[in-house]
Amino acid sequence: MKITFLGTGGGRFSTISQRRMTGGFRIDNLNGKNLHVDPGPGALVRTYQFGLDPRKLDGIFISHAHIDHCTDAEILIESMTKGMTRNKGSIIGCESVFNGFEQFGPCISNYHKSKSKNIILKPHTKKKFNNLTIKGTKTIHGDSTGVGFFIDSKDIKISYTSDTQYFDKLYTYHEGSDILIASVLRSGDKFIRGHMCSETFKKLLNEVQPKLAIMTHFGLEMINTNPLKEAKKITKQTGIKTLAAYDGMKIDVNFKNPKYSKINYFNKNYSQLYKQERENSYQSSLLNDETDELQINKK
Ligand SMILES: [Zn+2]
Ligand SMILES: [Zn+2]
Repeated sequence: MKITFLGTGGGRFSTISQRRMTGGFRIDNLNGKNLHVDPGPGALVRTYQFGLDPRKLDGIFISHAHIDHCTDAEILIESMTKGMTRNKGSIIGCESVFNGFEQFGPCISNYHKSKSKNIILKPHTKKKFNNLTIKGTKTIHGDSTGVGFFIDSKDIKISYTSDTQYFDKLYTYHEGSDILIASVLRSGDKFIRGHMCSETFKKLLNEVQPKLAIMTHFGLEMINTNPLKEAKKITKQTGIKTLAAYDGMKIDVNFKNPKYSKINYFNKNYSQLYKQERENSYQSSLLNDETDELQINKK
């Protein structure tokens, strides 16, 4: 089984600037099934860029109706169903994704809903999906119907927080996961409503105790700080191996010992890329926009 990150940027300014890609991630060959999780802008293009086939999908997971998670959902549904000519696969998502809720969604037209099984998830709801069990996990976020996913297979349990701020009972939804994938928008203790930062993510890790943790969905401030350094710090402080995902990163999962999984970077010049990224960031006026947003949210 492999996990491939088709994007590790998140939040509006990372997405607008494409400083990090925003295609979500693929899980391939989980009990023989291939899944695409949160196909944000560019998901189709990144699928090809990182050597995967968008037609070879069995499930498309959409955690909530924000554009950095759902823009490319319909085109991937077309890929999965061979241009809507076959009944195939499942679309798994929260209420707003299918039916809309308040000002969010729907993200999928009736036409695109028509050839695949539609599975609406709520927190705590468990649904069978082929030979996997999928549980919705609770989020506290702008789209109040949003969910994360706990994917339970016979070989491994993978949990994804999606966008949520930390709350006292968050760990109860992710308990027992071997690999915990989390949206960590900001570094250190830079709190922003509806999201986690490194400090709150650390709390969650200490409670859940996964075998491997992966941070993704980085905002500009986090990219500027260097997610790799944050991940190293978190690993040291929690004793849980924590990776900062990078665009194109592929993890060949070791079921017995997830922390010894093999990691392939699409571009081997990883540290060079980070250096470049930080240099670019100082020129990016979008970072100022994000800083403004941070100030507004503190008030
Ligand atoms: Zn997001
Ligand atoms: Zn969101």
